[in-house]
Amino acid sequence: MAVTVLEREQPAAGGSGNPVAVVRPEPGGADNPIAEFSAAGVRWLQEWLAQHGSVVPHAFCGAFRMTRDQRRHDKLRDYASTRAHDEIAEFSGVAADQLCGQAPASSGFFLPQAGWIDPVALVHAMLDHPLIHVRTRAEVIALDQNADGSWQLSLSEGEIFSASQVVMATAYATQLSPVPLAVDRARGQLSVIPEQADRAIHVIVCRDGYITPAINGVHTIGATIQYDDEDGSARRSDDLENFQRLQRLLPDFAKDPGVVRSGRVAWRATTQDRLPLVGRIAAGLSVSVGHGSRGIACAPLCAELLVAALCGEPLPMVRDWLNRLDPLRFGPR
Ligand SMILES: Cc1cc2nc3c(=O)[nH]c(=O)nc-3n(C[C@H](O)[C@H](O)[C@H](O)COP(=O)(O)OP(=O)(O)OC[C@H]3O[C@@H](n4cnc5c(N)ncnc54)[C@H](O)[C@@H]3O)c2cc1C
Repeated sequence: MAVTVLEREQPAAGGSGNPVAVVRPEPGGADNPIAEFSAAGVRWLQEWLAQHGSVVPHAFCGAFRMTRDQRRHDKLRDYASTRAHDEIAEFSGVAADQLCGQAPASSGFFLPQAGWIDPVALVHAMLDHPLIHVRTRAEVIALDQNADGSWQLSLSEGEIFSASQVVMATAYATQLSPVPLAVDRARGQLSVIPEQADRAIHVIVCRDGYITPAINGVHTIGATIQYDDEDGSARRSDDLENFQRLQRLLPDFAKDPGVVRSGRVAWRATTQDRLPLVGRIAAGLSVSVGHGSRGIACAPLCAELLVAALCGEPLPMVRDWLNRLDPLRFGPR
């Protein structure tokens, strides 16, 4: 089926335009939907990259995950004791230092399935298909249902499109939806720190933030999170906040906050339960929005799930996930 993508600016103009994203499964047991969802998303992405990802810079180098307190650490240790070492393994002391390349703030858990990816290259590689036609500078300003049930999309410069199936994949910009959707937005700023030849970081080191290995000469530190904040410019105060984040990860890695430089500012589309809204909201109209802090890891799997459901093809996840991601699960706003 041929697809036309109508994009207000250009592909990867929104959250997906960050220079790097961490893709990692959240560790946790069967009772943790985020763990199941993120593991499935990363697995799907790895399979896609193995087939089509030669032009997408990425590395599944693994992540060293620390916890905020002893209670969470003990819980994760109990979980790790039930799993294979190639899924999660506890590291402490010298072994943790060697794994990370630098001394982490505490013992933690190695997640070998995690990695980093260049989101912009991923978006372009996914759109590079003979049946996908991308229209840039094409802002949809109205969405109306025709008498025959198809949808009419009006662009800002006057052009009109009609389609029997429409998918809104607009992150937090859901105001054109005929049904109000429960999505908020939260600003985030990345920071970077230059690579130092004698201070390599081998894996992603994370807790309530992360630092990546050096990619193109810099380590990326992420990310601040601010609600009700529309400021699109990078702020020094946010870099200092990210420097504090780094201190909680690798306390000896950098002593001078002056080495931290501003990275990109973007907005996450957030939901109450930290799962996206994916599925049909009306005949011929579906959404895939609200991908929060995991959209690079999980939105591709959601696209596959949605399209498989619409086309009556085998689903990439158990059917129950169509209910869990139901865009109307919170009720209309
Ligand atoms: C600081 C920060 C750090 C992050 N780190 C990570 C990470 O490490 N790992 C991870 O997995 N995720 C991360 N995320 C989240 C991830 O970036 C997002 O979840 C993901 O990019 C969402 O993709 P999307 O396609 O849904 O939305 P977007 O990439 O925002 O794309 C939505 C597109 O819709 C277009 N659009 C909107 N309205 C219209 C309209 N009316 N007409 C036409 N086009 C329209 C926009 O121009 C935009 O290009 C991070 C996000 C932020 C902000």
